[in-house]
Amino acid sequence: MTSSLECDVLVVGGGAGALTGALTAATLGLDVILAEKTEYLGGTAAYAGAGLWLPLNSVSAAAFADTREKVDAYIAATTDGTGFADLREAYLDAAPEMVDFLLQDPSVEFHWRAFPDYYPDAPGYMPSGRAIFPKPLPDWAIGNDLVRLIRPELPLIRGGHDTGNKLRGGRALLGRLIQACVRAGVRIELEAPLRELDTRPGEVVGACLGGRDGDMNVRVRTGVLLAAGGFDHDIDMRKREGHPVEAGWQMGAPGSTGEVLAEARRIGADADLLHEAWWTPAFDTPLGPSFRVHQRGHPGSIVVDQDGRRFCNESLPYDRIGRAFRTGVLNGTLTLPAWFIVDQPTSTATVSTVNRRVLRCLRSGSPVVSPTAETPSTSSLPHSAFPPRIWGRR
Ligand SMILES: Cc1cc2nc3c(=O)[nH]c(=O)nc-3n(C[C@H](O)[C@H](O)[C@H](O)COP(=O)(O)OP(=O)(O)OC[C@H]3O[C@@H](n4cnc5c(N)ncnc54)[C@H](O)[C@@H]3O)c2cc1C
Repeated sequence: MTSSLECDVLVVGGGAGALTGALTAATLGLDVILAEKTEYLGGTAAYAGAGLWLPLNSVSAAAFADTREKVDAYIAATTDGTGFADLREAYLDAAPEMVDFLLQDPSVEFHWRAFPDYYPDAPGYMPSGRAIFPKPLPDWAIGNDLVRLIRPELPLIRGGHDTGNKLRGGRALLGRLIQACVRAGVRIELEAPLRELDTRPGEVVGACLGGRDGDMNVRVRTGVLLAAGGFDHDIDMRKREGHPVEAGWQMGAPGSTGEVLAEARRIGADADLLHEAWWTPAFDTPLGPSFRVHQRGHPGSIVVDQDGRRFCNESLPYDRIGRAFRTGVLNGTLTLPAWFIVDQPTSTATVSTVNRRVLRCLRSGSPVVSPTAETPSTSSLPHSAFPPRIWGRR
């Protein structure tokens, strides 16, 4: 049976981007429906550490001094400078405003903690870091009914955390935004995938959503916001966009299948930077790719390709190592998977308990799969992960 709904704004997706958009529209007094495809809110957002690089915001201003000139210099040095100056300016204008807007809601709290910028040699580098984080949120403060809506953590071995009865990182951000949205009157529909946008010449006037009890036709009075994540789980689309990855290499949440992007393009939307991703190496575990930030750069460890050659500085920021993987694969000089080789003293002294678990698990003969993942995201800052294989030596 098909039902009919009506609203001012339809938000498609249930991650941090969608919830922020829904909250903004609802705070402006608009009648908002948020439609999420899966049974949970939070796609890849639920896996994130949620370090939010939003320079010059009021939370970080209380912790350290910064200037627009320094931020501009840092961005210029760390991006390839291919245009988008207007978008960059808009981002830098809007980021502090957005933080202040969110902080008006009693559910939303951020704090700054030291997490250095990634490129120490770049002009404008901030050693203390510019990221702010959502404050952890005890389960009881949000209530079981809302906690159950949030996508579960990644398993520990894949980079998740043992967070006890607290929401942390991306899940804390989601919990806070969900509370704020519920209070602002956003109607949340789970298991309601966007199937098709309904258009008249020059405008989107509605959408067809799937639903547990049948399809829903939604007529929108003001607009539709598409915030449905990336396309890391659509391997064909990734290959078309120049991502040298195979199935099973995804770090992002399962809902990132790209059909909303395809639907937007079908009705004439333009898209750019789809060949880009936030590339990162990941360890390859029997449970899937494992995102580890700090373990590569220790003395006593190297990463080598199938021919035993080192092909990058293991201490580079993860994004740059991931790019070295990608470039090597695309130009045919690198065959994956790579191997992470670590000697016993290093393994004992510096490799964390979780990584030792990964090492043990691989030593004991569990199958090791091939290179890993990537998470193109809505905001054109996708992630990617290739796994150095791990080998521990006694
Ligand atoms: C391990 C890890 C750590 C990370 N750490 C950080 C960090 O510290 N800082 C940072 O900035 N970023 C980090 N990221 C990246 C960050 O998580 C993502 O960029 C961000 O969460 C993307 O948010 P989103 O709202 O665009 O998409 P998502 O959170 O992926 O949400 C998209 C939602 O849309 C839904 N959807 C898809 N198709 C449809 C459809 N047809 N209809 C309806 N809904 C649909 C999906 O199911 C999903 O719930 C990390 C990523 C990973 C994997």
